[in-house]
Amino acid sequence: MATSDTASARHRTRVLVAGGGVAGIETLLALRALAADLLDITILAPELKFVNRAMSVDQPFRAPRVRGIRLKDTTAELGAHWHQGTLDRVEHRQHHVVTRDGDQIPYDKLVIALGAHPQREWDARGVLSYGGRDHANYGLLLHQLREGQVTKLAFVRPEGATWPLPLYDLALSTAADCAAHGRTDVQLSLITPERQPLEIFGTTVSSAVRRLLDEAAVTLHTASTALPSRPGWLDIAPGDRGMRVDRVVTVPRLVGPLLRGIPCGPDGFIHTDTHGRLPGIDDVYAAGDATDFPVKHGGLAAQQADTVAEAIAAAVGADIDPQPFAPILRAVLLTGGAPRYLYADLSDNTGQDSVITEEALWSPPNKLSGRYLAPYLSSQVGDRADVMPQDQHTVAIDDALDLRAGEAGHSGEKLDARRSATTRHPAT
Ligand SMILES: Cc1cc2nc3c(=O)[nH]c(=O)nc-3n(C[C@H](O)[C@H](O)[C@H](O)COP(=O)(O)OP(=O)(O)OC[C@H]3O[C@@H](n4cnc5c(N)ncnc54)[C@H](O)[C@@H]3O)c2cc1C
Repeated sequence: MATSDTASARHRTRVLVAGGGVAGIETLLALRALAADLLDITILAPELKFVNRAMSVDQPFRAPRVRGIRLKDTTAELGAHWHQGTLDRVEHRQHHVVTRDGDQIPYDKLVIALGAHPQREWDARGVLSYGGRDHANYGLLLHQLREGQVTKLAFVRPEGATWPLPLYDLALSTAADCAAHGRTDVQLSLITPERQPLEIFGTTVSSAVRRLLDEAAVTLHTASTALPSRPGWLDIAPGDRGMRVDRVVTVPRLVGPLLRGIPCGPDGFIHTDTHGRLPGIDDVYAAGDATDFPVKHGGLAAQQADTVAEAIAAAVGADIDPQPFAPILRAVLLTGGAPRYLYADLSDNTGQDSVITEEALWSPPNKLSGRYLAPYLSSQVGDRADVMPQDQHTVAIDDALDLRAGEAGHSGEKLDARRSATTRHPAT
């Protein structure tokens, strides 16, 4: 018996997924759904746990909770292998990678899902760079705001690639927290190089977010950059502007992984074709923040991973017509009150197909959308899931909604299709 098992394993295509984040786990789940019997999948990642960073912006406002799913358990449950380690280089002509520990891992197909490298924009006193593990420091800042020790707080988006959501989540949630604690004297500002708030989502979303910030008394400076030139002071450009601040919150600027053995652009990001393949390099694919797609977002990382999984499944003989990457932005903006669901079709470039609503537009209505990852995380018990704030704002959805249902055709129809396929009721 063992012999036939070994023989069938030998005939399976070995897929090595480098990275155990959003794109890595989504690739694993998608490959398993599309071609499980044909593949032998290994995840290579240094960390023990996958943590949903999209929800880290909610952490400072809640009681501490256990977070994350163990990669060892998840890979075992999904019939894959887990190799704890850090990728050092790809030797693609030999079809193997080498880890920092010197392990050589052969592959038939390689998926690079290493994410982006966060870089602190300023290492100055009084500046908190929120990269997803900073909830304790942010919790302290909230305490200082509530106690009146900090009254002037600026949220500053750096220039260049970064995650679009977190500063808006934090600014709106912080404004709500200050209001709830009677801190009407607190002055909050948001300074961004974007021409409109959350510009990437298009005009409808931008106008609504501008209103939300206005209602929350967060002063918005668009088309502006800020520099903490000295303690307690922000220089703002263009123009000879400045602002007194007690504290600054920013997000890291992102650069690519600059992986040895793989061509990268000047910022270290990896170029792929529309199916996630690396041009000119056989059997190597990339997905997620590590690629040169300009918008860095978990939902998009998951869609890229699905695209790659389809390409690999088709290449190994699964009965599937692999579709090119067609980016759809789905995001949940936390406000300290009812969250807002944001949707934009980035593939049509008009900026007109943007939607913002208090009703969930997809199911499960998680902050991190992903065709396979979102339902998987929602199926986890207790805090490990950590998908959305579980409070009075939680919206339960009865019918699972196929994210691709209705995505062909006119944009209005797409959303109608989503609405009709989904029934909602407020959680009791
Ligand atoms: C505070 C915050 C809030 C966010 N909010 C949202 C949101 O609301 N919605 C949303 O969709 N997205 C959000 N994002 C963005 C989202 O988290 C990222 O876009 C997403 O994680 C990118 O997925 P990825 O798989 O490309 O990279 P990651 O999830 O970063 O995963 C990269 C993986 O590669 C591994 N790795 C790195 N280097 C190596 C190496 N050399 N060898 C082996 N493994 C390696 C890492 O350990 C990790 O496992 C947020 C991010 C932050 C920080």
